[in-house]
Amino acid sequence: MAIWNLGSINIDHVYPLESLPKPGETLASRGYAQGLGGKGANQSVAAARAGAVTHHLGAMGTGDDWVRDRLAQAGVDMGHVARLADQATGHAIILLDADAENAIVIHPGANRAIDEDALTQALSALTPADTLLIQNETNGQVAAARAAQAQGARVIYSAAPFDLDAVRAVLPHVSILAMNAGEAEQLFAGDPGDLPVQGLLITRGAEGAEYRDLTTGQVHEQPSFRVTPVDTTGAGDTFAGYFAAALDGGADIPAALRLASAAAAVKVTRAGAGDAIPTRTEVDAFLS
Ligand code: ADP
Repeated sequence: MAIWNLGSINIDHVYPLESLPKPGETLASRGYAQGLGGKGANQSVAAARAGAVTHHLGAMGTGDDWVRDRLAQAGVDMGHVARLADQATGHAIILLDADAENAIVIHPGANRAIDEDALTQALSALTPADTLLIQNETNGQVAAARAAQAQGARVIYSAAPFDLDAVRAVLPHVSILAMNAGEAEQLFAGDPGDLPVQGLLITRGAEGAEYRDLTTGQVHEQPSFRVTPVDTTGAGDTFAGYFAAALDGGADIPAALRLASAAAAVKVTRAGAGDAIPTRTEVDAFLS
């Protein structure tokens, strides 16, 4: 019983501005914050804080030890994260205007230079009790999903950022497909019935989430908890990591949905991405 998460690790550089710059314009920011981000890192932090044994699979540059240390402090095993001398650690330049509208540039760097043979080798040790989690911010999803599927492990695919070609290539090796409502709209119009997966998890922001068992047709609905949102960055990642960890720990779908929804609700009350993901103790306190 463990989560193996092939995912991106980014450093988020956040610059608040009065307005977003226009072409040719140079602006001074009103501040600067640096934090842990990347969909993969966020999901590993969420899974580990939820209580799952969590192994991250990925790559970083050779500096930035604080990033590795922060993930390790959250309880994530970083032993399968390569340090690449010829790549920068992935990073995101995030510009925020006074209305919290954003413009973002991502440099994938090491996240797209992961050794696929090493992935396949690491995942050949999985058992049917394990879970592989994947997203779209790295290379190697098909190789990883195929290797995990061959071991009989559960494969959960958080199909963001949305990329139709990537989704089509990975889907035959996936058990549960997780997406937000906008992504689901792009993948299928109305009827997900012929998707080659067992389950479909769709999140709808403040409106809630649903899980469809595509083998039985059963639908589980989970309303969102009412909170005052401060920053919704990483809400979907918190949901995905907590949901995967709950299933990995033996929870049924309704219990996994409720826990993930509570964790994501606590996240949106806090600014930041990976650093703002709540611990299981905090989520249990929110639910009690
Ligand atoms: P993403 O971050 O991937 O776009 P969503 O916006 O659907 O995903 O959010 C994921 C989950 O986070 C939702 O299903 C919900 O549980 C929780 N969430 C997001 N926004 C809110 C909100 N304003 N209030 C309460 N929960 C929220």
